[in-house]
Amino acid sequence: MDDCVFCKIINGDIPSTTIYEDDDIKAFFDISQVTPGHTLVVPKKHVKDIFAYDENLAERVFKKIPMIARAIKASNPKIIGMNICQNNGEIAYQSVMHSHIHLVPRYSKDDDFSMHWGDN
Ligand code: AMP
Repeated sequence: MDDCVFCKIINGDIPSTTIYEDDDIKAFFDISQVTPGHTLVVPKKHVKDIFAYDENLAERVFKKIPMIARAIKASNPKIIGMNICQNNGEIAYQSVMHSHIHLVPRYSKDDDFSMHWGDN
């Protein structure tokens, strides 16, 4: 999609800090880090949201989430937990209309977590 920021990142037209990539997905740091290491996992195929996945794509993308979560956790011994979430639709605070999964590492006594769920 020409006007999609994540398609541009996938194509290399916009820079990103990529931590993992294969034929199906790209995982890169969110530009606005909720906590250090906040990562987005994005399918390379442009799908708008969870409702647009077919079963095959869903399997290829979501089965890799535990592996990426483990790699992020292993990168920093201070990471003791992780929030994993996906916003689907504007009502659910999706702001980039190319499906993505947030992996937000959690640290002891971090209280700056603000994923905007249900706060209005
Ligand atoms: P959501 O609100 O769930 O759609 O999340 C979209 C996320 O994309 C936000 O957390 C943004 O900070 C992030 N984002 C937007 N543009 C970029 C970019 N160029 N590189 C990395 N992350 C981005």
